[in-house]
Amino acid sequence: MQRNLWALALAGAMVATSAFAQAPEVTLTRLACGDGNNDPRRFSDSFAYKDDKMPFTFSCYVIRHGADVMVWDTGYLPGSVPNANNKPITELLSQINVKPDQVKFVGISHFHADHTGQLGPFTNATLLIGKGDWDGVNAQPPMGGANVAGFKDFMGGGRKVEPLSADKDVFGDGSVMILRTPGHTPGHSMLLVRLKEKGPVILTGDAVHFRENYTSDGVPGFNYDRAQTIASIERIKQIEKNLKATVIIQHDPRDIGKLPAFPASAK
Ligand SMILES: [Zn+2]
Repeated sequence: MQRNLWALALAGAMVATSAFAQAPEVTLTRLACGDGNNDPRRFSDSFAYKDDKMPFTFSCYVIRHGADVMVWDTGYLPGSVPNANNKPITELLSQINVKPDQVKFVGISHFHADHTGQLGPFTNATLLIGKGDWDGVNAQPPMGGANVAGFKDFMGGGRKVEPLSADKDVFGDGSVMILRTPGHTPGHSMLLVRLKEKGPVILTGDAVHFRENYTSDGVPGFNYDRAQTIASIERIKQIEKNLKATVIIQHDPRDIGKLPAFPASAK
């Protein structure tokens, strides 16, 4: 009896050791997915901004989790608008040795065209999207601002889609989590990536568009729901404080330097 208990304890210790040894490395890489200017006055419904021009950037990200690859937001379709001066995402991915068909998950913050312009290449991926946004894409007529054309390969059962009505722990170990932050759109989400060296990183999506939006609770007049937007900004601030997380505002060029320059990645 005693010997059996000892064997059990030993087996348990071995399982724990091997699980630790096999904890997959997680990395985060930023891809440039567009650049230009925007009128900041559009991004406050309380007349907070006076300038009529502010630099905007457009960011896509690659998360590696062991051998698995996830893409977060896909940027503009190159050439589709003046700010869509980005290289095709497939070209950027090839520079970091990722083939589009090996991407397991494509998570998107929301259905706007500057985040969903390049879903096409990810033939084997499961699309992870807030249910409110997925419903908006598929509504008849579609919800205003939904980039329906960008989703066509995934609509009607063409590819795998997982509409999210709650937070999603993507790999089941807490290292990569899609978190509900509605308001900009009904199903808006952000991404939390916990890195071993850098620590937790929040990719905001469009929960906020630039730093001043974040610090002074600025709400764009075109957002879907004002109260939800404020609540989502509050959620980000609480997570930033509790986890001592790095907050990266995806459209703010001042936040590009928070991650290593492409093709390097944060670990
Ligand atoms: Zn947006």
